[in-house]
Amino acid sequence: MPFDRASHSHPPEEIVPLDDPQSGLRGMIVLHSTLLGPAAGGCRVWRYDSERDAARDALRLAEGMSYKNALAGLPLGGGKAVICQPAGQFDRSALFRAFGRAVAALGGRYVTAEDVGTSVGDMLQVAETTGHVAGLPARPGMPGGDPSPWTALGVFRAMEVAVQRRLGTDLRGATVAVQGLGHVGFALCDLLYQAGARLIVAEPRKAVAAKAVALFGAEVTTSSRLLAAPADVFAPCALGGVIDKAAVRRLHAKIVCGAANNQLATPQQGLDLAARNVLYAPDYLVNAGGIINVAAEYLGWSEAEARQRVEGIGPRLAEVLDLAEANRMAPNEAADTLARSLMADKRPTSLAA
Ligand code: NAD
Repeated sequence: MPFDRASHSHPPEEIVPLDDPQSGLRGMIVLHSTLLGPAAGGCRVWRYDSERDAARDALRLAEGMSYKNALAGLPLGGGKAVICQPAGQFDRSALFRAFGRAVAALGGRYVTAEDVGTSVGDMLQVAETTGHVAGLPARPGMPGGDPSPWTALGVFRAMEVAVQRRLGTDLRGATVAVQGLGHVGFALCDLLYQAGARLIVAEPRKAVAAKAVALFGAEVTTSSRLLAAPADVFAPCALGGVIDKAAVRRLHAKIVCGAANNQLATPQQGLDLAARNVLYAPDYLVNAGGIINVAAEYLGWSEAEARQRVEGIGPRLAEVLDLAEANRMAPNEAADTLARSLMADKRPTSLAA
């Protein structure tokens, strides 16, 4: 049975202003949803042109975290903090300790971690004033530390499912075009190489690209040529917004599956890819390995449990693709809809076992 398409945003539960003149802390914490658990999402520090821009970013990111955490099956809601970078010199430690006090005042309704513009060192300062923080250095045998290898593993598992669905084969002999060989992209190349895939890569850091040639026999091209490269899978692992109108036309691959956040310039491109029979694996579903690792750290799960949940990203993608097919939706619509229904604890009837 068809159900409501996900076409509108949901308002946040609460917006908490951050204002501490002594440290220069300004910004906000957005608790988008605590339906499934504490609102979890990183803290971004950015030079916003206006408070309005900061608010817009925080709201968009917090809502995205609700969907990502729901779809990852985590007992966490979605939230985000944005801090407007103070002009000139400022005491970074004091700023993050003040931020930690604001997090502490929420009594565990919001859990923070790193995001763009913040580091492990910043989170250690936050941890001085609140326990509701993750992304701290890993303790031996426990989840924590750099989440990138987990993100890469989740993308890899999703790609296996996508290739099987769209091409009816496994990754051995498939060609994957990887855009960006950073923390996630390089680890993904390693997994793909071990699985017998052929690699075409684009990476502006020449030494890193050369390493991929030496280690994985990768072919190197430019980022602008990568879209049209003769690959089965396009794996964006660098920038957001890479799938715009022009990219949909130029793309050679039949599958898009990568780690980058916000790959679609607008949701319309998800529909356009589907119309061209390109399988788009929704970004926030496939790149959830990192947040699963962060959640495991905060919730005290073992590494084995974290791994099992990251491995679950493949079956979750299959579920979303089934839902999309059954309801004649594009996968990005199906992912949003499933995430919303999980949050509302209303499983769509087409998914009922
Ligand atoms: P990173 O900064 O380590 O790597 C990005 C890489 O892309 C760099 O090597 C950079 O040189 C390269 N790059 C930049 N511009 C490029 C271009 N035009 N063409 C090709 N390569 C380009 O970042 P990361 O941690 O590997 O994350 C990659 C993406 O995945 C980001 O969009 C990030 O938001 C997303 N993501 C990462 C994680 C994680 O665990 N690190 C989790 C979820 C999502």
